Amino acid sequence: MDLSRFPRRRYTQGATPLEFLPHFTKALRASCGGGASPNVWIKRDDMLGLTPGGNKTRKLEFLAADALMHGADTLITCGAPQSNHCRATLSSAIKEGLKCRFVIEERIAGSYRPEASGNNFLFRLLGVEAITVVPAGTNMLEAMQKVAGELAAQGRKGYIVPGGGSNAIGGLGYVACAQELQQQFFEQGVQIDKVVVGSGSSGTHGGLLAGFLGNHINIPIVGIGVSRDPADQDPLVHKEAQAVADLLGLNLTIARDAVVSFGEWWRPKYSVPNQAMVEAVQMLARTEAILLDPVYTGKIMAGLIGLARKGYFRNEENVLFIHTGGAPSLHAYEAEVLGLSSLTA
Ligand SMILES: *Cc1c(COP(=O)(O)O)cnc(C)c1O
Repeated sequence: MDLSRFPRRRYTQGATPLEFLPHFTKALRASCGGGASPNVWIKRDDMLGLTPGGNKTRKLEFLAADALMHGADTLITCGAPQSNHCRATLSSAIKEGLKCRFVIEERIAGSYRPEASGNNFLFRLLGVEAITVVPAGTNMLEAMQKVAGELAAQGRKGYIVPGGGSNAIGGLGYVACAQELQQQFFEQGVQIDKVVVGSGSSGTHGGLLAGFLGNHINIPIVGIGVSRDPADQDPLVHKEAQAVADLLGLNLTIARDAVVSFGEWWRPKYSVPNQAMVEAVQMLARTEAILLDPVYTGKIMAGLIGLARKGYFRNEENVLFIHTGGAPSLHAYEAEVLGLSSLTA
């Protein structure tokens, strides 16, 4: 499948590592009580380019190229207070010599603190031009259009990057990841039986699914919801995957049951810590020295661990965890992740 007809900026040199996790696999096996337990592999998309990597980098390679093609001078995007996506978009803007503005949704009232650590700190260090804070439930597209209108009134040109970078163009980033994986499976002689990936704004899960189908990679993808249960999440992923397939001209109707996800591990709420997340973050850090994050990958890995303990994977089947990044927000949740503050779930 030829992606070269889509304009793309490059933010990463070469491929991110695809690696086996021997110590984590052993620890997981020991915690599965003698039952079936998978071999766990990792795709290090936390090591992508832009300060400091994560899945949004792949989407922004295509989105920033589109913004430049449209003659934009400013990227406008939106997210939660500790948004990795906002930080990555700002990094991309800096690389391209553009300005950047955010609309931040306080999904939990009072949760945006300008002086907070983690990504908030990076927003300021990297020099975001302006932040508009809006309450939960605000129409984010309209809020971003308003910012674009303000820029237009000054003779400037804003480009709206959707939340999470998840539209058909952004999803191409994970089609590129599918192709990168296919090449690595071949070169490294690795046979993966299942892929576990986070499922939020859906560009990652949906783009990867379109990329797998388009490249005839017959490996089931298991999404772990970071903010929704399957009844709400799967239709979003299906819509995204179909939009990406259409943009690629695949002439393919994606079956609804090609989308599989699990809820549960995101509770009690998006971005709110739980005990299973803390265990997952500590387990990967202490067995492989790889950092997960409290909002996304900690809960996604908790999903993988939880599914393993329920016997969802066959014994020793090769399960690939896509590490989508996010480590900067660890610093906004240090006490929780170290187990020093009590959690409600
Ligand atoms: C945004 C994000 C996700 C979710 O990816 P979507 O494409 O929005 O579904 C997962 N992990 C991290 C670290 C993220 O920042």
